[in-house]
Formats: sequence, C-alpha cells, structure tokens
Amino acid sequence: MSNEIRVRFAPSPTGYLHMGSLRTALYNYLYAKKTGGKFILRIEDTDQTRYIEGAVENLLNTLKSIGLEYDEGPEKGGDYGPYFQSQRTEIYRKYSNELIEKDAAYYCFCTPDELEKMRKEQIAQGIDARYDGRCRKLSKEEIEENLAKGKPYVIRENLPKEGEIVFYDIVRDRVAIKWETVDDQVLIKSDGFPTYHLANVVDDHLMKITHIIRGEEWLSSVPKHLFLYNAFGWKPPKMCHLPLLLNPDKSKLSKRQGDVAVEDFLAKGYLPEALLNFVALLGWHSKSDEELYSLEKLEQEFSLKRISKSGAVFDIEKLNWMNGHYLRELELGYISIKARPYFIKAGFEIRDEEQYLQIIDVARNRISILSEVTEISKPFFIEPDFNEEDKMLITEENSQKLYFFWFENLKEIETISVEAVNNLLQRSTEELGIKGKDLYFPLRLALFGSVHGPEFPAIINILGKDETLKRLNNVIKQ
Ligand code: GLU
Repeated sequence: MSNEIRVRFAPSPTGYLHMGSLRTALYNYLYAKKTGGKFILRIEDTDQTRYIEGAVENLLNTLKSIGLEYDEGPEKGGDYGPYFQSQRTEIYRKYSNELIEKDAAYYCFCTPDELEKMRKEQIAQGIDARYDGRCRKLSKEEIEENLAKGKPYVIRENLPKEGEIVFYDIVRDRVAIKWETVDDQVLIKSDGFPTYHLANVVDDHLMKITHIIRGEEWLSSVPKHLFLYNAFGWKPPKMCHLPLLLNPDKSKLSKRQGDVAVEDFLAKGYLPEALLNFVALLGWHSKSDEELYSLEKLEQEFSLKRISKSGAVFDIEKLNWMNGHYLRELELGYISIKARPYFIKAGFEIRDEEQYLQIIDVARNRISILSEVTEISKPFFIEPDFNEEDKMLITEENSQKLYFFWFENLKEIETISVEAVNNLLQRSTEELGIKGKDLYFPLRLALFGSVHGPEFPAIINILGKDETLKRLNNVIKQ
C-alpha cells in the first residue's frame, strides 16, 4: 500500500528511557494504530563515543514491559532493515558521496584545535560560535592532496547562508528559520560514522516514513534535514514536534530534578497503564477533556490535531493519583502478580494465596504506588510492636474488657466471616456499652498495631482465627 502511514520511534540508546521519549513512542504508536499504519522502532546508535553496554537491551525490555509493541524493528525485523543504524554505515557513506558530488556537502579538514581557536575568537568578538566555512573554499586539488595524505576530515552540509527556510509543522503550523542561524552541520564524523542528521534523514526516506513525530528539541534541526531531502530530490515526511516537558517550576524536565527514567518509575511500582495514561496527556487532550484512558481508548481517540503547542508540566501528584486509580480498578489477580516481587524483596513469606489476595485487596485501597505495598501490609506478617502511648490505651479498663470479650467469644466461632465479626462488634456495644472510637481504636491497635487502618472485619478475616486470638491474648493483662 503506497499511502500507508508509517511512523517511527528512533531513540539513541542512552542507558535509560526518558519519560519524554516514552511520550514520543506512545504518540507514534497511537497514530499508527489510529490510522491502521505501521509503527517502526529504529535504534539510532551511530555515536560510538556514547556507547553504553546493555543500553539497547534495556530499551527493548522497557518498551516490552510498558506494552508498546512495534510492527518492525530490532528482534522483529521487517522489509526495511537493518533497524540498527550502526549496521547501516555503508548506506550513509554512499549518500554522503552523492551529496559531495552535488555540492550539497563538502570535506572539512579543520582539526579540533583549529575549531576551538575559531570558537574562542568568535566568542571574543561577541558573535555566535559556528563553523566559518573556510573549507568550503578549498579547491579540488587541495582536497585531493589532503585526502591522499590521509588527513582526517569530516563532511559538512553546504547550507545556504542567506534568506530563510519556511516549513509547516502539524503542531506549530508555519515555521520560518533564518539560514544564517544554522551551522554547516557535520554529516560524517572523522571516525567515518554519520551524525544523527544524515542517518536520520536517509533512514526516514529509505524506511518510507510518512510522519515524523518527535520532541520539540528537534525543531531547530529541521532546516538541516529539509536541505538534505531537497538535495536528494526526496519528498520529506510530514513534521509533528511535540511540546517540551516541564518541571512544575517551568524549567525543562531533566534528571536533575528527580526521576525521569521510565525504568525507575516501573521499579517504584508505577503501573504501565498509569504511565501510559499519564504521558498521553502531556501535550494532548481529547475533545471531552477526560483524564482516564486505557491504551485501547487512546488508540481510538488520539489525534495529532489535538496536540498543544505549549509546554506540558510533569505533575507527579497527578501521576500518583492515576496510579492509585489503576491499582484499585485493574484486576486483583494482575495487581497481586505485580506486587509479589515487593513481598519477596521485603522477605515477607506468602503462605496462603487466598489470604495474599485479600491482603492486596486491602492494601491497594491505601497506597498510590506499589512499592508502598509491603509497608502497609506489614502488620499482616509481623506482630505489632507497641510504644508507650499504645500501651496506655491497651491497659485502659475499657480496652481490657473488650479484649477479653472478643477473646472469649471469638474462640467459640467456628469460621470467621464478615457477618460474625459485625455481629461481635454490635454485641460489644450492646453488652459492654462500648462504641465508635472507643471500640475500634483499641481493637485495631491490638490486632493491626495502629488505631487507624483497614476495615475491622477485613483485618480479622485476613489474620484468621488463630492469629487473631494470639494477638488478643498478647494484650490481655495476665
Ligand atoms: N535519535 C534521536 C533521539 O534520540 C531521534 C530524533 C528523531 O526522532 O528524529 O531523540
């Protein structure tokens, strides 16, 4: 199909997946789903100086855990591979030669020292530091000679120096950038590897990408890219630049001000469903302005037209709220699977699966991230420890009366049920005249270690008869 929509997520493996990149991946994914197109994953790993062991595996695993499946890409293959740029260097070489032939690019033999000197002089003169184009003027002979001598070189774009370039972006609409502000971009580095700019353009063309959806930080690179499309005689994809992600103080979201790595959020116990819902709304909103979206619902409602221009504030409180929502709303069995590693890590032994599910059901109503699950469930695994204040309440006459009453009556009940517990609560009021706070606080303290906590019948149900009797016995004065 020639008019099929093809979009791509093209991360450079930096060692972790930034929340902003997750949003880029998601919007690409959603646009492909919405239009019946293809979502491609391409690894942009041509910067050898930034190679990080395990970064690609980490990236692929994170995408998998979050549930964004791609149609073509690493491990999966496809008709336009390889999907690692480091395996495509021959291709870029061929195209950079073509650019030189067309005079759209030129050899630059300036050494790092010369470039540094140039930069310093420009700064001293108060002008913006950029390549001054001195190698653009080299004669054919000079170039041949330098090459024959084996002098190290880079290949630069031969960009116009006057006028402006105008293009249309789906989010920003008309964008005009003056050529004088654009540096003659290096396309092939001295190690022979292409820079992002060349590889990205060549691959987007060869992979038949129809729409480029990516972060706003790339908007200023568009002139360099459009120049290349033009030089090759290729039709450029449509552009869609997503608004910046901001900290609440409106500075650019960065690792310095807290977590931005998706892996860290997952490890802390944020659910993929919540993370996807949350990042979906960082720069996009539906007609109805609803807040809660499953991936399926996003696939139906997403549209590029509703992406906003202004920066999106990353509000962790909202993410916590959303995560809490999904913890309570998603299937109990699923949440219990997600929660299990935290119990293993805390060394809490799960002896009974039915009881474990009940614990999760109680805990999930009281937490917003899964890593809090063990702390909140601790009293179900470890007998309470009482401080001086607790002991004062425990030894009060009323409390003791209650403990004794409950111990004696609970003993007689064969199977504990919500009804049985409610019945005993009622009888405590009728027979002992104890109600409200005076009833619940001492009992909850004895059984759960704090006066506040889950519903009383749930506590007893989970602890079971033997453990409840044991804990009551512990607080009864001998
Ligand atoms: N490799 C670039 C990045 O890491 C991709 C930018 C683009 O999508 O063109 O963000």
